[in-house]
Amino acid sequence: MNSLSILRSGPSIARALGLIKASNSIPHNTAFSFSPRPLECRRALSSVKATNDEEAAARVTAVDADTGAPTIFDKIIAKEIPSSIVYEDDKVLAFRDISPQAPVHVLIIPKFRDGLTQLGKAEQRHGEVLGHLLYAAKLVAEKEGIVDGFRVVINSGPSACQSVYHLHLHVLGGRQMKWPPG
Ligand code: 5GP
Repeated sequence: MNSLSILRSGPSIARALGLIKASNSIPHNTAFSFSPRPLECRRALSSVKATNDEEAAARVTAVDADTGAPTIFDKIIAKEIPSSIVYEDDKVLAFRDISPQAPVHVLIIPKFRDGLTQLGKAEQRHGEVLGHLLYAAKLVAEKEGIVDGFRVVINSGPSACQSVYHLHLHVLGGRQMKWPPG
């Protein structure tokens, strides 16, 4: 979750994150505040902080996951906020991620959430739309010219750093992917 989406998600999440960040902040008497460190070391520290922020954000958003509250993706479906749409049919919408992690990074969501806040909440009745989402991923990969090699990711729940509780597939490609993922 980036800062833009946190702000868009509403003041409660932003406030809660502020609290979490405050409670996680590094005490002033640690070595970090007065000991200059090599650039690589400072980079490593900032990447650890970013990771911790992602995890903290995921825990905060998970609290409201099943209240049925609208998410930022409902506003995208309703075209209340703009998005760069790549593919759309009556069941799914595919649009570019606001914070791309690869040259191609497209999100595919069901238009009707129907309880699918995350994959971990899937029930048998969702089988058709889940299959359709995967097929749409292949159509998006074809459209984006990456059908020969692409990755589909679903983050489900706070341990996977899910940040928006409306089921979505990430379609990633356009560069060499690494394995194992982080
Ligand atoms: P998650 O972390 O839940 O698996 O993925 C949520 C994704 O939604 C993130 O990659 C994030 O960048 C993306 N996202 C959050 N807010 C917006 C938005 O307002 N517009 C778009 N296009 N993507 C968003």
